[in-house]
Amino acid sequence: MNVLITGASGFIGSALIRHLLDTDRTVIGLSRKPEPLARRFGNRIKTVDDLAKIDADTSIDAIVNLAGEPILDRRWSEKRKQVLYNSRLDTTAAVIKLIQRLNTKPTVLVSGSAIGYYGSQPDDRMLDENSEGRNGFTHKLCADWESRALEVQRLGVRVCLLRTGVVLGHGGALKRMLPPFKMALGGPIGSGRQWFSWIQLDDMVSLIDFLLQHQVLSGAFNATAPEPVTNAEFSKQLGRVLGRPAILPMPAFVMRLALGEGAELLCEGQRVVPVRLQQAGFEFRYPKLDKALAASL
Ligand code: NDP
Repeated sequence: MNVLITGASGFIGSALIRHLLDTDRTVIGLSRKPEPLARRFGNRIKTVDDLAKIDADTSIDAIVNLAGEPILDRRWSEKRKQVLYNSRLDTTAAVIKLIQRLNTKPTVLVSGSAIGYYGSQPDDRMLDENSEGRNGFTHKLCADWESRALEVQRLGVRVCLLRTGVVLGHGGALKRMLPPFKMALGGPIGSGRQWFSWIQLDDMVSLIDFLLQHQVLSGAFNATAPEPVTNAEFSKQLGRVLGRPAILPMPAFVMRLALGEGAELLCEGQRVVPVRLQQAGFEFRYPKLDKALAASL
């Protein structure tokens, strides 16, 4: 199987490349700066800096579309929100153009989305894939990103959408959270009652592979572990795994000053459960947070 990955240099993309190479698949990685990617994986992968440069005769069996500007790197101004939106929608449009050009179409597109699809949900309701999204920027971003990816269905391509929770692994969001916790300055954000839906990186990679291989599966999948926790519980368990107290609350207004509207991702939350993956028989290696955190530090 030859798999094209957009966002190949990223946190999830790199882990996926390692897994696919280890299991005898071949990879084409898209990166705007492909040299570091090529250095990292050597001649075991092909790299490309523009999908338009891929020849129409290239054999691509599957595409995993993960590219997008980092969500929490900067404060969300109106301009930044447009950059977050365009980077995802434009790359997906380029994927569609590529599929239209390819002489042999891939059989499947696994495309990114996020639990932000559901928007901020102030109550304790469990959200499955049929739950309605609430209005707001993250809902619009994810809903439009999903709709665009679904356009390739009319070309006969199966589409699976990844409504991804916070991915825990070496790097990613956890890397940013760790410094205060390591100095015993960590703690719950705001009230701590908001839900935190997470997934360990190994499970994220395995479920992408599961969706690539299970030809009967399509549509949206919550890519989250079966047991989301409150933010207070997450802080407590992270402190415990690190052997540090985690009791200093981070006031919500400080997060809002730092991140603007983006603070809603941390100060508010959603209790998301992976109903469709579990119905399809996917087994999580890390269903519980304590073991997931231990494997991620
Ligand atoms: P990273 O930020 O680690 O990687 C994103 C990739 O997107 C990079 O490899 C980068 O490639 C590419 N990229 C960045 N900006 C642009 C741009 N303007 N145009 C085209 N490509 C761009 O993300 P993750 O691997 O963590 O996540 C992958 C996807 O999953 C993202 O879209 C993210 O929003 C989503 N997601 C991730 C979660 C997480 O916790 N990690 C949670 C929920 C959703 P290069 O610079 O090499 O071109």
